[in-house]
Amino acid sequence: MNKEYLLENLKKKINLHSQNFPGKNLVFSDGSYLSEVMIIGEAPGMMEDKMKIPFVGRAGKLLDKMLESINLNRNKCYITNVVNFRPEENRKPTLDEILVFRPLLFNHIEIIMPKKILLLGATAAYAVLDHEGPLHIVRGIWKKININKYYFSVLTTFHPAYLLRQPNLKDLSYKDLKKFAESNVI
Ligand code: URA
Repeated sequence: MNKEYLLENLKKKINLHSQNFPGKNLVFSDGSYLSEVMIIGEAPGMMEDKMKIPFVGRAGKLLDKMLESINLNRNKCYITNVVNFRPEENRKPTLDEILVFRPLLFNHIEIIMPKKILLLGATAAYAVLDHEGPLHIVRGIWKKININKYYFSVLTTFHPAYLLRQPNLKDLSYKDLKKFAESNVI
């Protein structure tokens, strides 16, 4: 089965949860589904909901710069979020929401089959790595995750929205990105 078909099917499955996010749009993904690099954020914000595209607001502009620093851009990767609808009042997704969306995200990863996955922030680290607690414990470290019979290489860095509030951490984040870009993980 081809990726386009599988992605359309996944969209339909995700849309079954739309009643829990009244008035919000499905924000599925951006970039190329043929890319070997997958980037996973938290959940759409106001701009993303309006445009139905992930990472188009202020954090998205910073993400674009971060990608540029490692010679990437959004057309060369595949970008999505843990939760595909904007939570009310821009709150963080709840634990329950993350647990509902986790299998859908894992399905998304299996369809894209990326060589490398970049997790942005604590929600993505929790959803994908089951990591709770301070981000610095997993940040900048390659991990492997297993989804059905496949293994995927995953690296975590700060969420760009967090970096907007803590610009002093940008240097560390650029180190992570460099590591992400330079590694030929298998
Ligand atoms: N923050 C996210 O985690 N995802 C977006 O799409 C936008 C902001």
